[in-house]
Amino acid sequence: MAVTGTSWPTLPVRPDPAADRVRESGLLPELAYAFGGPFHFLLPDAFDANLAAMRQSLAEAGVDGFVYFAKKANKAAVFVERAAAAGAGVDVASAAELREALGHGVRGEHLVLTGPAKDPALLRLAVQHGALIAVDALDELDTLITGVPYGPCRPARILLRILPPQQPHSRFGMNDAELTTALERCVQAGDTVRMEGFSFHLSGYAIQPRADLAAHLADLCLKARVQGLETGRISIGGGLPISYTDADSWHAFLEGHDRRHYHARKAFQDSDFYPYHCPRPGAEALTALLAARPDGREQSLADILRDAGVTLLLEPGRALLDQAGASVFTIQGVKDRDGYQLLTVDGTSLSLSEQWFNSEYLPDPHLVPRDGAGSDSGAGLYPAGVGAATCLESDMLTWRKVGFPRRPRVGDLLVYPNTAGYQMDSNESPFHDLAIPPKVVIDRTDGARPRWRLDRHFT
Ligand SMILES: *Cc1c(COP(=O)(O)O)cnc(C)c1O
Repeated sequence: MAVTGTSWPTLPVRPDPAADRVRESGLLPELAYAFGGPFHFLLPDAFDANLAAMRQSLAEAGVDGFVYFAKKANKAAVFVERAAAAGAGVDVASAAELREALGHGVRGEHLVLTGPAKDPALLRLAVQHGALIAVDALDELDTLITGVPYGPCRPARILLRILPPQQPHSRFGMNDAELTTALERCVQAGDTVRMEGFSFHLSGYAIQPRADLAAHLADLCLKARVQGLETGRISIGGGLPISYTDADSWHAFLEGHDRRHYHARKAFQDSDFYPYHCPRPGAEALTALLAARPDGREQSLADILRDAGVTLLLEPGRALLDQAGASVFTIQGVKDRDGYQLLTVDGTSLSLSEQWFNSEYLPDPHLVPRDGAGSDSGAGLYPAGVGAATCLESDMLTWRKVGFPRRPRVGDLLVYPNTAGYQMDSNESPFHDLAIPPKVVIDRTDGARPRWRLDRHFT
């Protein structure tokens, strides 16, 4: 059922030699056989490279900075271990995440605790380990100052999280009036808290609003010093984007796709999609941010931070995980429909989180033949949507009829690329009593044969 004579929307990922070597090594069909179900493989060297690039951006701009890995973006142990080994921090938001980070070697003072309305037990744990706490509300500040018996562990190291003026409907952070009150309480609290600065986390990926708000926070640090507080850090949260594909492919995709290209004529608006191409991803976005001139200012953000003696903290999740993993499913069934195929794989869309946000994970999955290594190159065009092995009508890993170069067969593998950032495990659950897909860490991709082991989360 090859389609001929038409162009078909496609979204190839950027070159990724390490992932290609794993796919071409023949390892994946073996692992699929061993596990008898879907699994993820992780490429932690990419995490190291992304972290190093961000640190280089800071160094080149002459800005004192510190990177915390936002742990919610992936549950694997290996990324926390890499953060610990590299002396980076981890952004945690629950007692379990805090334990995990400590247990895998991250020092307490290298943790930042974020999230709303943190319970007293969690706050106590954070204070005991010297973690930085991003205070989200006045009652939380009061708990820290008076409500928790810390004994000798004080002071609590805190940042005050602000409600971004650009996003006034956010449920996170404090408005101006609350901030004024919070600062007064910090002054009165004396040695029970050490107020180190301010934080924000913006949705979206735009650079200018982040530069504007960061400069505002640097000003707040200067003002707070007048009140006697030793403020010298601001956290700009996460939101460094990943570029999954090249510019031409992305624009051609947006121009070329319509409802005919989706199973059940499912309709997506362009605005429903993550921006799968961005001109300045990851560390490049950080460089651009530091070079940006905040609204109404003559200096770059880097100059403003340097002059104010303010350390820039960042909490990237997705961007540290660019090209750090992929998800592998086995095709269990192939159905012919009108002009396309409907594949059923051995897993669910819970392992591809984008599908749960009225959206679609668009990067093309690779088709790996069941009988061993090989590329997915071929001559034809065989469109197919990808459904899950569940009884939910809407449980689709891909609504789009992906144009495969060969006819997919039962037993072939589908490898969804670049899924480490949020896709592979944010939403996972043992729905239908299906096993949660194990994670395989690939420790070496440069030799003849990749070396693999299980991430410690496998149960
Ligand atoms: C989710 C989150 C992050 C990480 O965001 P990314 O877009 O993955 O970089 C950082 N900080 C806070 C407070 C968050 O909630």
